[in-house]
Amino acid sequence: MDVLTETTANSIYIDGQWRPAASGETFEVINPADGQRITTVAAGGRADARAAIESAARAFPAWAASTAYERSEILYRAWRILTDRTEELARILTTEQGKPLKAARTEVKYAADFLIWFAEEAKRVYGRTIPSARADQRFLVLHQPIGVVGAVTPWNYPISMITRKVAPALAAGCTIVLKPAEDTPLCAIEVFKALEAAGLPAGVANLVTARDPKPIGDEFIENPLVGKLTFTGSTSVGKSLTRGASDQLKRVSLELGGHAPFIVFEDADPVHAAKGAALLKFLNTGQACISPNRFYVHASIHDAFVETFTDRVAKLQAGSGFDKDVAIGPLINQAAMDKMSAQVSDAIDKGAVATTGGARMAGPAVEAGFFFAPTVLTGVTPDMRIYREETFGPIGAVCRFDNETDVIRAANDTRYGLAAYIYTRDLSRALRVSEALKFGMVGVNDINPTSAAAPFGGVKESGLGREGAQEGIFEYLDTKLIGISL
Ligand code: ADP
Repeated sequence: MDVLTETTANSIYIDGQWRPAASGETFEVINPADGQRITTVAAGGRADARAAIESAARAFPAWAASTAYERSEILYRAWRILTDRTEELARILTTEQGKPLKAARTEVKYAADFLIWFAEEAKRVYGRTIPSARADQRFLVLHQPIGVVGAVTPWNYPISMITRKVAPALAAGCTIVLKPAEDTPLCAIEVFKALEAAGLPAGVANLVTARDPKPIGDEFIENPLVGKLTFTGSTSVGKSLTRGASDQLKRVSLELGGHAPFIVFEDADPVHAAKGAALLKFLNTGQACISPNRFYVHASIHDAFVETFTDRVAKLQAGSGFDKDVAIGPLINQAAMDKMSAQVSDAIDKGAVATTGGARMAGPAVEAGFFFAPTVLTGVTPDMRIYREETFGPIGAVCRFDNETDVIRAANDTRYGLAAYIYTRDLSRALRVSEALKFGMVGVNDINPTSAAAPFGGVKESGLGREGAQEGIFEYLDTKLIGISL
């Protein structure tokens, strides 16, 4: 891969220095489209995490004392660097993660959006005064950076999930140590190069690439210098980190799994909804926590929806993200392939029908990679695994419903609560159902209710806290009350 000719073995960035792992160990980064090794990066361990945390702790007082304007300036510069390097970064992203190049460019832009958004929000951390019942007393509320942040990010959006944490943390005046996902460390390295080039002082942001995440997570949890943990990934790992962090009552933000319902009411246009469904479900090969997992379609328009949905999905071209016409890339690894096969065969055994796809893909363009055929299942029912388990892959599971009350109950019948989607032309219904859905985000005739300006996050077992928007920076700030007697 042309953009990755230089060695990346010095991929740990601590105190402004690029270095190898303390142990000297490395691990391979694999291209999921062809199973080939891309490069080798440092396999950081607990000692590296500790050194990174200590560096962040040393850098904290000066960074916290810098003005919001100074921090903002650096984030603006990093935004400019990422934006100018979009093409190169998109190619690295496609190489290590697999998504089509066009989608990779969109993700790089989304990543840069967080830098500019929080460059602006840095200056808007307003406190307030509160009237007191005592004439001789004043209350002052202000917000101060928490301290050192330990951040863990996933492989599915390997660049935007990093800036979504790093930008608000830095804007707030926190310092940070990031552990990126083991499958996709290369985008992380590029973000840190951009921060370095933007003039970020040494030690303010530190990167520890690692093959084994557990020792790094343990150090984040146990080291008292870390004041806050921010995690995006699976619900099970999020819970276990939270359990660990509870010992010192560290602040925690979590963006976890989802099981999004996508409800198409009888007054919606089934063809329009099916086109939206086909676009949304197969974005990033279904590897998104806000990807719809259950399509509930009203019985009166079910067949029309399924016809267009199947037709669109069957036409999606899979292959290397570098091929111009490819709309769908590989899954990240073999474990993901196995999960798809297991969910499909379980559903079919219990009576579902695959109207397209349903198995691993064959053929020269896809054989070497982790390609599962884009699939539509109809007749999906609550006893099937796919109805409860997050799929994280290219399978659209369709169920029928007959009335609004039942479908709201069914949609909410999940331990997750991240995103939900509804299609309707009835304004009252749109509001009524949006309010009744127990999810953090609802798209109404809208398949992309996300933006750096909008609060992203879930309820129930989908997470704690919000990223992006005004809310995002407050995840990195403590509230302080000052009471003054005159
Ligand atoms: P997925 O199954 O989708 O890969 P994970 O939750 O396992 O989701 O991974 C998301 C991120 O969490 C990755 O960066 C991974 O390395 C990290 N991770 C996994 N287990 C741990 C752990 N015990 N401590 C810290 N980070 C972890």
